[in-house]
Amino acid sequence: MSKQPVNRALFDDVMVPNYNPQQMVPVRGRGSRVWDQEDNEYIDFAGGIAVNALGHVHPELVATLKEQADKLWHLSNTFTNEPALRLANLLKETTFADKIFFCNSGAEANEAAFKLARKYAYDNFGPEKHEIIAFYQGFHGRTLFTVSVGGQAKYREGFEPAPGGITHVPFNDLEALKAAISDKTCAVVMEPIQGEGGVIPADPEFAKGVRELCDQHNALLVFDEIQTGVGRTGHLYAYMGLGVTPDILTSAKALGGGFPIGAMLTTDRVAPSFGFGTHGSTYGGNPLACAVAEKAVELINTPEVLGQVAGKRAVFVEELDKINAKHSIFTEVRGDGLLIGAELTEQWHGQGAKFLAAAREEGLMILVAGPNVLRMAPSLIIPDEDIRDGMALLDKAVEKVINSQAN
Ligand SMILES: *Cc1c(COP(=O)(O)O)cnc(C)c1O
Repeated sequence: MSKQPVNRALFDDVMVPNYNPQQMVPVRGRGSRVWDQEDNEYIDFAGGIAVNALGHVHPELVATLKEQADKLWHLSNTFTNEPALRLANLLKETTFADKIFFCNSGAEANEAAFKLARKYAYDNFGPEKHEIIAFYQGFHGRTLFTVSVGGQAKYREGFEPAPGGITHVPFNDLEALKAAISDKTCAVVMEPIQGEGGVIPADPEFAKGVRELCDQHNALLVFDEIQTGVGRTGHLYAYMGLGVTPDILTSAKALGGGFPIGAMLTTDRVAPSFGFGTHGSTYGGNPLACAVAEKAVELINTPEVLGQVAGKRAVFVEELDKINAKHSIFTEVRGDGLLIGAELTEQWHGQGAKFLAAAREEGLMILVAGPNVLRMAPSLIIPDEDIRDGMALLDKAVEKVINSQAN
């Protein structure tokens, strides 16, 4: 076997080119700091895309994972296990849900949710009631069903024929939903804040209206809380802040604090449609994943963590406002809690990736949400000092992008 150096260049050699990662290879992390192969330090505002809600290598998550690793790794769902039962019970006690289904990712949680919504309508109203309504710019994952419910055609193109019976309407437009919904609608699917679509919060009045329209038409309301859930907005789930309760909620990303897990939460009314044998997952409810997730939810669902999210957001917004006062590059800073979107001015539309690369060169990890919006989804316990240090790096990165454009 040839001995290839393990570096960023190897990626292009051996990996399918569906990603184009930044030009460095991180090797370790702690809290909101990360180091690459050359021992360069980075401040992490990306949080593994809203996953590392307790930062990197949180000591209590590490201890929990090690403890479970010495006990039991995997069984399959032919047998149940203690961590899965404990996590399900914790989610039941802390949310609207009565029943939980576990899987391994966000897309799988949504796949389960959409199948359950169809099956519930089929069981209770008949096969005609199968239409799903979702929103433009919405994002629900990359399986064929989830890209089809997602509202960005570019993720679907070339993969057709796509599953049918799916309609999209503009987000935050209740009249458009009213015109589209009917007794054939089995579910309306939405994110409380559209994440990948540009960090666009649902107007609370809109969310309430969606709930009412669903009730009028016996349609289920599905909240995709894969990005907004597990403390991101300062509530355990964003629906708690909106004051609108869904029938099905999907969770992943921060749920495992960095260990892969997904969950679908629902009610006693809806759950029976996933009767024995109707759906499944070999890894779903894996003891390692569930043990870590239980600990992550316990640590996050506390006044110490949730109660400081708004304050940390305020520091982010204050610093972004300062950068904007200097460089005039944002039209708006939006989102909720520690899901933060800064939309670039029209002059910079389409160039989000340039800022991301410039930030990385300065030692800062950030995200984009589409080509026009810089996105931050850091650890919920990021120290204020790391926020301010990171923003000093973003300031430099922005200046460099502007200067490079001027020359
Ligand atoms: C990330 C995300 C998904 C997909 O989750 P995966 O774990 O990547 O499958 C689905 N919905 C929303 C809102 C997301 O942010």
